[in-house]
Amino acid sequence: MRVGAATDVGRVREINEDGYLAGSLVFAVADGMGGHDAGEVASSIAIEALRERGFQLEDPIGEIRAAFSDINSRIHERARTDPTCAGMGTTLTLLIFRGQEAYVGHVGDSRLYVLRDGGLKQLTEDHSIVWELVRHGEITEEEARFHPHRNIITRALGTFPSVEPDVFGLEVLKGDTFLLCTDGLSSELEGREIAEILSKSPSPEEAPSRLVEAALRRGGADNITAVVVYVE
Ligand code: MN
Repeated sequence: MRVGAATDVGRVREINEDGYLAGSLVFAVADGMGGHDAGEVASSIAIEALRERGFQLEDPIGEIRAAFSDINSRIHERARTDPTCAGMGTTLTLLIFRGQEAYVGHVGDSRLYVLRDGGLKQLTEDHSIVWELVRHGEITEEEARFHPHRNIITRALGTFPSVEPDVFGLEVLKGDTFLLCTDGLSSELEGREIAEILSKSPSPEEAPSRLVEAALRRGGADNITAVVVYVE
Protein backbone atom coordinates (compact mmCIF):
# COMPACT_ATOMS: atom_id res chain seq x y z
CA MET A 1 0.00 0.00 0.00
CA ARG A 2 1.09 3.52 -0.68
CA VAL A 3 0.03 6.25 1.71
CA GLY A 4 -0.08 10.03 1.86
CA ALA A 5 -1.49 12.49 4.40
CA ALA A 6 -1.86 16.25 4.73
CA THR A 7 -3.54 18.63 7.14
CA ASP A 8 -3.89 22.41 7.16
CA VAL A 9 -5.43 24.95 9.53
CA GLY A 10 -7.18 26.64 6.58
CA ARG A 11 -7.54 30.37 5.91
CA VAL A 12 -10.06 31.31 8.60
CA ARG A 13 -9.52 29.28 11.78
CA GLU A 14 -6.69 29.98 14.21
CA ILE A 15 -6.12 26.43 15.43
CA ASN A 16 -6.14 23.13 13.61
CA GLU A 17 -8.53 20.89 15.57
CA ASP A 18 -8.30 18.06 13.02
CA GLY A 19 -6.11 15.04 13.67
CA TYR A 20 -5.17 11.99 11.64
CA LEU A 21 -3.44 8.63 11.88
CA ALA A 22 -1.61 7.03 8.96
CA GLY A 23 -0.16 3.75 10.26
CA SER A 24 0.69 0.69 8.18
CA LEU A 25 -2.79 -0.89 8.34
CA VAL A 26 -4.76 1.54 10.52
CA PHE A 27 -5.90 4.92 9.18
CA ALA A 28 -8.13 7.58 10.70
CA VAL A 29 -9.23 11.20 10.62
CA ALA A 30 -10.81 13.11 13.51
CA ASP A 31 -12.36 16.59 13.54
CA GLY A 32 -12.61 18.02 17.03
CA MET A 33 -15.11 20.58 18.23
CA GLY A 34 -15.50 22.56 21.42
CA GLY A 35 -14.69 25.95 22.91
CA HIS A 36 -11.17 27.43 22.87
CA ASP A 37 -8.81 24.61 21.92
CA ALA A 38 -10.96 21.82 23.43
CA GLY A 39 -11.69 20.41 19.97
CA GLU A 40 -8.01 19.75 19.52
CA VAL A 41 -7.95 17.92 22.86
CA ALA A 42 -10.86 15.71 21.79
CA SER A 43 -9.41 14.79 18.38
CA SER A 44 -5.97 14.16 19.94
CA ILE A 45 -7.44 11.81 22.56
CA ALA A 46 -9.09 9.83 19.74
CA ILE A 47 -5.99 9.62 17.55
CA GLU A 48 -3.62 8.81 20.45
CA ALA A 49 -5.97 6.10 21.72
CA LEU A 50 -5.97 4.48 18.26
CA ARG A 51 -2.19 4.77 17.99
CA GLU A 52 -1.74 2.95 21.32
CA ARG A 53 -4.37 0.33 20.63
CA GLY A 54 -3.41 -2.97 19.05
CA PHE A 55 -6.08 -4.41 16.76
CA GLN A 56 -5.93 -8.23 16.61
CA LEU A 57 -8.73 -8.31 14.02
CA GLU A 58 -10.04 -11.71 15.03
CA ASP A 59 -13.35 -9.95 15.58
CA PRO A 60 -12.90 -6.65 13.68
CA ILE A 61 -16.46 -5.38 14.14
CA GLY A 62 -16.38 -6.07 17.90
CA GLU A 63 -12.90 -4.59 18.29
CA ILE A 64 -13.85 -1.41 16.45
CA ARG A 65 -17.00 -1.03 18.55
CA ALA A 66 -14.91 -1.50 21.71
CA ALA A 67 -12.36 1.09 20.53
CA PHE A 68 -15.07 3.67 19.83
CA SER A 69 -16.69 2.99 23.20
CA ASP A 70 -13.35 3.39 25.00
CA ILE A 71 -12.49 6.63 23.17
CA ASN A 72 -15.97 7.99 23.82
CA SER A 73 -15.55 7.33 27.56
CA ARG A 74 -12.10 8.95 27.66
CA ILE A 75 -13.30 12.14 25.96
CA HIS A 76 -16.56 12.28 27.90
CA GLU A 77 -14.73 11.84 31.22
CA ARG A 78 -12.24 14.59 30.38
CA ALA A 79 -15.07 16.91 29.28
CA ARG A 80 -16.93 16.17 32.53
CA THR A 81 -13.97 16.83 34.84
CA ASP A 82 -12.01 19.58 33.04
CA PRO A 83 -14.02 22.83 32.79
CA THR A 84 -11.91 24.05 29.83
CA CYS A 85 -13.06 20.96 27.90
CA ALA A 86 -16.79 21.05 28.73
CA GLY A 87 -18.94 19.97 25.80
CA MET A 88 -16.06 18.94 23.57
CA GLY A 89 -16.37 16.13 21.06
CA THR A 90 -14.88 14.78 17.87
CA THR A 91 -15.77 12.98 14.70
CA LEU A 92 -13.83 9.80 13.99
CA THR A 93 -13.58 7.83 10.75
CA LEU A 94 -11.41 4.73 11.01
CA LEU A 95 -10.25 2.33 8.27
CA ILE A 96 -8.40 -0.90 9.09
CA PHE A 97 -7.08 -3.36 6.50
CA ARG A 98 -7.03 -7.13 6.95
CA GLY A 99 -5.90 -8.93 3.83
CA GLN A 100 -8.40 -8.41 1.03
CA GLU A 101 -10.88 -6.85 3.41
CA ALA A 102 -11.14 -3.56 5.25
CA TYR A 103 -13.21 -2.54 8.24
CA VAL A 104 -14.68 0.86 8.94
CA GLY A 105 -15.79 2.61 12.11
CA HIS A 106 -17.47 5.97 11.81
CA VAL A 107 -19.09 8.74 13.85
CA GLY A 108 -19.76 12.30 12.64
CA ASP A 109 -19.35 14.06 9.30
CA SER A 110 -15.80 13.20 8.31
CA ARG A 111 -15.85 10.87 5.30
CA LEU A 112 -14.41 7.77 3.72
CA TYR A 113 -14.46 7.56 -0.08
CA VAL A 114 -13.13 4.97 -2.48
CA LEU A 115 -12.01 5.71 -6.03
CA ARG A 116 -12.56 2.47 -7.97
CA ASP A 117 -12.56 2.10 -11.77
CA GLY A 118 -12.47 5.90 -12.07
CA GLY A 119 -15.64 6.41 -10.02
CA LEU A 120 -15.69 8.02 -6.58
CA LYS A 121 -18.03 6.53 -4.01
CA GLN A 122 -18.71 7.83 -0.52
CA LEU A 123 -18.70 4.82 1.81
CA THR A 124 -19.74 6.56 5.03
CA GLU A 125 -22.93 8.46 5.77
CA ASP A 126 -22.61 11.84 7.46
CA HIS A 127 -24.23 12.05 10.87
CA SER A 128 -25.51 15.55 10.24
CA ILE A 129 -28.73 17.47 9.83
CA VAL A 130 -28.07 18.24 6.15
CA TRP A 131 -27.35 14.57 5.37
CA GLU A 132 -30.80 13.71 6.77
CA LEU A 133 -32.31 16.34 4.47
CA VAL A 134 -30.42 14.89 1.46
CA ARG A 135 -31.50 11.37 2.40
CA HIS A 136 -35.12 12.40 2.52
CA GLY A 137 -34.81 14.15 -0.85
CA GLU A 138 -35.46 17.62 0.60
CA ILE A 139 -32.21 19.15 -0.67
CA THR A 140 -29.54 18.02 -3.14
CA GLU A 141 -25.96 17.11 -2.19
CA GLU A 142 -24.83 20.31 -3.91
CA GLU A 143 -27.26 22.39 -1.80
CA ALA A 144 -26.02 20.59 1.33
CA ARG A 145 -22.50 21.96 0.79
CA PHE A 146 -23.80 25.53 1.17
CA HIS A 147 -26.59 24.95 3.69
CA PRO A 148 -26.45 27.26 6.75
CA HIS A 149 -26.72 24.23 9.07
CA ARG A 150 -24.09 22.14 7.27
CA ASN A 151 -21.82 22.13 10.34
CA ILE A 152 -24.35 20.69 12.77
CA ILE A 153 -23.60 17.04 13.43
CA THR A 154 -25.99 14.64 15.10
CA ARG A 155 -23.40 12.20 16.50
CA ALA A 156 -19.94 12.83 17.96
CA LEU A 157 -17.50 11.01 20.22
CA GLY A 158 -17.45 12.29 23.80
CA THR A 159 -20.60 14.39 23.81
CA PHE A 160 -22.72 11.75 25.53
CA PRO A 161 -21.89 8.86 27.93
CA SER A 162 -22.30 6.35 25.09
CA VAL A 163 -22.16 6.43 21.31
CA GLU A 164 -23.39 4.24 18.45
CA PRO A 165 -20.78 4.07 15.67
CA ASP A 166 -21.47 2.81 12.15
CA VAL A 167 -19.24 -0.27 11.73
CA PHE A 168 -18.97 -2.37 8.57
CA GLY A 169 -16.61 -4.39 6.41
CA LEU A 170 -15.86 -4.11 2.72
CA GLU A 171 -13.94 -5.91 0.01
CA VAL A 172 -10.64 -4.36 -1.09
CA LEU A 173 -9.57 -4.57 -4.74
CA LYS A 174 -6.17 -3.94 -6.29
CA GLY A 175 -6.04 -0.38 -7.60
CA ASP A 176 -8.50 1.01 -5.03
CA THR A 177 -7.72 4.48 -3.73
CA PHE A 178 -9.25 5.21 -0.33
CA LEU A 179 -9.63 8.77 0.91
CA LEU A 180 -10.39 9.71 4.51
CA CYS A 181 -11.11 13.41 4.96
CA THR A 182 -12.67 15.97 7.26
CA ASP A 183 -15.54 18.24 6.22
CA GLY A 184 -13.07 21.07 5.57
CA LEU A 185 -12.25 19.19 2.36
CA SER A 186 -15.65 17.80 1.40
CA SER A 187 -17.47 21.12 1.93
CA GLU A 188 -15.05 22.98 -0.35
CA LEU A 189 -14.80 20.41 -3.15
CA GLU A 190 -17.44 18.50 -5.08
CA GLY A 191 -17.12 14.75 -5.47
CA ARG A 192 -16.15 15.04 -9.13
CA GLU A 193 -13.37 17.51 -8.24
CA ILE A 194 -12.04 15.15 -5.56
CA ALA A 195 -12.13 12.28 -8.09
CA GLU A 196 -10.28 14.35 -10.69
CA ILE A 197 -7.52 15.42 -8.29
CA LEU A 198 -7.10 11.85 -7.00
CA SER A 199 -6.91 10.47 -10.55
CA LYS A 200 -4.50 13.11 -11.83
CA SER A 201 -2.11 13.16 -8.88
CA PRO A 202 1.33 11.93 -9.96
CA SER A 203 1.46 9.66 -6.89
CA PRO A 204 -0.74 8.62 -3.95
CA GLU A 205 1.77 10.28 -1.62
CA GLU A 206 1.18 13.69 -3.25
CA ALA A 207 -2.61 13.41 -3.57
CA PRO A 208 -3.51 14.69 -0.06
CA SER A 209 -1.52 17.93 -0.37
CA ARG A 210 -3.08 18.53 -3.83
CA LEU A 211 -6.55 18.08 -2.33
CA VAL A 212 -5.73 20.40 0.57
CA GLU A 213 -4.34 23.05 -1.81
CA ALA A 214 -7.52 22.90 -3.90
CA ALA A 215 -9.68 23.37 -0.78
CA LEU A 216 -7.50 26.31 0.30
CA ARG A 217 -7.98 27.93 -3.13
CA ARG A 218 -11.76 27.63 -2.59
CA GLY A 219 -11.47 29.61 0.65
CA GLY A 220 -10.30 27.13 3.28
CA ALA A 221 -13.12 28.08 5.67
CA ASP A 222 -12.34 25.17 8.00
CA ASN A 223 -9.41 22.95 8.98
CA ILE A 224 -8.66 20.53 6.12
CA THR A 225 -7.34 16.98 6.45
CA ALA A 226 -6.87 14.19 3.90
CA VAL A 227 -5.38 10.71 4.15
CA VAL A 228 -4.99 8.66 0.95
CA VAL A 229 -4.33 4.91 0.81
CA TYR A 230 -3.63 3.30 -2.55
CA VAL A 231 -3.85 -0.50 -2.75
CA GLU A 232 -1.11 -1.87 -5.01
MN1 MN B 1 -14.33 20.51 10.26
